[in-house]
Formats: sequence, structure tokens, C-alpha cells
Amino acid sequence: MEVSSGKSVYGGIAVGRICIFHKEESQVKRETVSDTDRELARFEHARESAKKQLHGLYEKALQEVGESGAMIFEVHQMMLDDMDFIESVTNMIKTQKVNAEFAVATTGDHLSQVFAAMEDAYMRERAADLKDISNRVIMALQGREGAGIHSTEPSIILAEDLAPSETVQLDKSKVLAFVTRLGSTNSHTAILARTMSIPALIGVDYKEDMDGKMAVVDGFKGELYVEPDEETLTKYEKQKAEEDEKRRLLFDLRGHEDITKDGRKINLYANIGGVKDVASVLANDASGIGLFRSEFLYLESSGYPGEEEQFQAYKTVVETMAGKKVIIRTLDIGADKQVDYFKLDKEENPAMGYRAIRICLDRQDVFKTQLRAIFRASHYGSVSIMFPMIISVPEVHQAKELVEEVKNELRAQGIPFGDVEIGIMIETPAAAVISDLLAKEVDFFSVGTNDLTQYTLAIDRQNPKLDNIYDAHHEAVLRMLQNIVDNGHKEGCWVGICGELGADTELTETFLRMGFDELSVSPSMVLPVRAKIRSITLQ
Ligand code: PEP
Ligand code: MG
Repeated sequence: MEVSSGKSVYGGIAVGRICIFHKEESQVKRETVSDTDRELARFEHARESAKKQLHGLYEKALQEVGESGAMIFEVHQMMLDDMDFIESVTNMIKTQKVNAEFAVATTGDHLSQVFAAMEDAYMRERAADLKDISNRVIMALQGREGAGIHSTEPSIILAEDLAPSETVQLDKSKVLAFVTRLGSTNSHTAILARTMSIPALIGVDYKEDMDGKMAVVDGFKGELYVEPDEETLTKYEKQKAEEDEKRRLLFDLRGHEDITKDGRKINLYANIGGVKDVASVLANDASGIGLFRSEFLYLESSGYPGEEEQFQAYKTVVETMAGKKVIIRTLDIGADKQVDYFKLDKEENPAMGYRAIRICLDRQDVFKTQLRAIFRASHYGSVSIMFPMIISVPEVHQAKELVEEVKNELRAQGIPFGDVEIGIMIETPAAAVISDLLAKEVDFFSVGTNDLTQYTLAIDRQNPKLDNIYDAHHEAVLRMLQNIVDNGHKEGCWVGICGELGADTELTETFLRMGFDELSVSPSMVLPVRAKIRSITLQ
């Protein structure tokens, strides 16, 4: 038995086989071939197999995220049948006598450059799709299945690191636990693991030859046991059964109010990254969605998601929540959430760089597309909207002006929409300090303690070396929280927390005493926080 230690990101026990996740890197070399017919047949075969894979992905996405989310895979299948693409590859093979991999890679690069230079925004978005489909054909030519999990049974995933976009694309039904060598507890990948209630460890040194071996992940102690002995295996199988039982008992709290023993109520909502997380929100009985990280729609897509696609996603969430509040945060990309097709420059300091509302106020076409989709969805339930990374009053004015433009356009087109509360995230020290001024502009505040802690303490939330001093309980953070609630309430705003600190049950009583009106936590933390609230007496 081999034991490796790391740091826990989400508790829980997992028992199963290891599967090592490798990133998608296709190296293509130019080779001269003599048998061009053979090369043409290889291309044809790979194209068919790529189409088959895409059909499978379409069917899976249809089940998991519905028609709008699945559509991209249908578009990719159609692109593989495009005559320009096929003719360009076959001509290159015939005239230049090159290998199929090289012909596909060159055609993919060339056509995607042509698309990227087009006037029409929709056509420009297809550039990333072309790269994607040519990559898929190359993988098929090389006899590789593509990035991700090669195992067919649910496995413990070991990876060097996982980007948020890679994490969201993994097949959740095949993941028992995440174990990474790099990463930090406050990264978005860690947040995703918590949203999915999957035991996760970071900072674990593993070896390639562990692939396929039996293992146990102890998400409480932060340990990975490879080829556990009989005694360890039995101990953890028993502990896992006890954990499952605890979870079952917590489920008895479903249907109960979020109220202290002496009658103080608080709204307990859940955070989601996409349509597929709503099932977990309902299973854990949250009273609403306090943070819909809409950027994951962009991260999961290979090009800008259009208005219709976004509308369908928001509408599905809103309708499924059946009248319960859904707070959609507008696009918050940048920093660790990088989206290739935005073509953002590399920055020295991305966490303090061109991101979130800064991009949206610049790229108004992208922002207004999202606002239209959100407002259209508001007709189907209770929708609120909030802007991330705010630092000043003029930013809020500009964002609200764009909201007004969108509402006027929808009215002129006779498209219905509901009453939408407007809020902001308080996640910069600047916003916390001027929260008295910002409160005059909006209906609510939601405190993003993840970023607020990072910027207040000047500690990069992504840096594993600083994880042990990233202290969200720091007096500076707590004083800011009190200031934000007081300033919000003076102007009639309700105030909540949607950062990870909201789920910290050591502070639940403190938050209630400070006067917070809402806590929004990972779906898996709703019932533990409810149990805590119901055990408190404030008087
Ligand atoms: C936060 O910063 O606390 C927050 C909720 O936003 P994110 O974690 O997505 O940056
Ligand atoms: Mg944030």
C-alpha cells in the first residue's frame, strides 16, 4: 500500500480504480506519403469515426443539458460534412502527397483563420469550432479517443491540474474523486468539485504507474491510499457507508425552514455553474439560486454562445426552479476562467486584469446578447441579475444603462420580460468601502468572499503556496462584511453572501448576528448549513 498526502478541497470517501487524466495535445508532423489512396481512405475513416463520437456526445448532452446545449455537437457533425473542408484536405493529400494528419491540421488552421477574419459575428465564432473538429479528426487518425477519461467504470481521477473548462466537460458519472498535483482550495475547479459533491484533494504527488490501480481517497484527512491493504479497505468501506447514512439523515431536513430556534429566518440559496446543477439544488432543497455562474456556459462552448442558446439555458433553470428566485451573475471571465475564443491577451496579473464587468462594458455586443437572453428568460419565473467585480459607481451606471437599452429594444419588439432586481457583487475592497454609495444604485448586494479575501489580504487565491494564509476569517474581512450589511440596509438593499465562506458553519451564527439576509452555498452544503441555522439561538 502506498499513501500520499495532500490538502482536502471537499470531504467524503471514495473507493475505486485510478484513472489518470491526460490533457489533449496533438503533435502533428508533415510526412511525405507514396500511397495517397491509402491516406484518403484513412481520412475518410477518421472523419466517419469523429462523426460517430459527436453523435454520441449529442445524445449524452441532450439527456444532461437539453436541446440547446446539445446543438453544438450537431453543428460539429455538419461541419465535418462541409465540402470546403473535405475538398481542401483531399486536394492537399493528392497534390502535395502529405499525410492525412498534416492535411487536416493545415486545413483546420487555414479555414479557422478565414472564419476569424469575417465581418459577421456568428461566422467569426465558428473559427474555434473548426479547430475543434479538425482536432477530433486528428485524434481519430492517431487512434486516440481524445482528452479525458479512458476508463468505462467510475474512477478516481488523478491529474496534474484541471482547468475549470476541463472539469465541466468531464463525464460526472465516471468521477468518484478528483486528485490533482497542483491547484488551490479556492480555485474554480475546487468550487466545481464542491458543487458536484465530489471528494477532492490537491497537492498530491502521484506516479504514472498508479493508473488502473485500486485506491481510496479520504477527503477528510487529505489522503490517497493506492492498493490499500485489506484492513484499510474494510475501514474505508465502513466509513463510506456511515457517511452515506449521515447524508441520508440530513435529507430529513428537506422541507424544513431556515430559521433559528428563536425565530430569525434567513434565505438559504445554492450556487450553480449550469443547467445540470439544478437537479442538485432541488435534491438539497435550496430555496433559490443565489449565484448562477453564467460564465460556465461560455467555458463549455467552443464559440460565443448566442442569444437563443443562452435564453434556452436560463429559461430551463428558471422554469425548473418554478417561481423560486434565480440570481444570474453576468459573465465573469478572465483570471483562472479563460475562454480561448475571446482571444484575451496574456497578462502579468490576470486576477487584477481585464476581466468580468470590465470586458462586458468594453464588448457591449457580447454583454447585450447576454442581457437580452436573461431578460427574455425573466418572463418565465423570478430572475435577478448581478454584476461581478464592481469597483465604482460609474460602472454600475453604465451597466444599468445597457440594461435599459436592452429593455427598450425588447419592448419595441413586443418581447415580454418580468421585473428583474438588479444587484452587484461586492468582491473588491473598493466596493466594500464605498458600499454606502453603491447601495443607492441597486436592489441588493451579494458578497463574493472568495475574491474579497484575495484582494483584501493581497493573496492570490490560485497560489497553493499561500493556501495556508488565505484566511477568510481575517478581522479585516469580517469588519468589511459588517460594513457592507450596515450600508446596504441603510438604503433598503438586502444583503447576502455567495462566496465559499457562506457555507462555513463556524461563522453561521456570526453572519446571522451581522444581519445577513441570505447565504448562497454549494448545493451539497445547503442541508449542513440548514442544520446549523436550526441549532442556533440568537437572543
Ligand atoms: C467570489 O469571488 O466569492 C465569488 C462568488 O465569485 P467567484 O468565486 O466565481 O469568483
Ligand atoms: Mg469572484
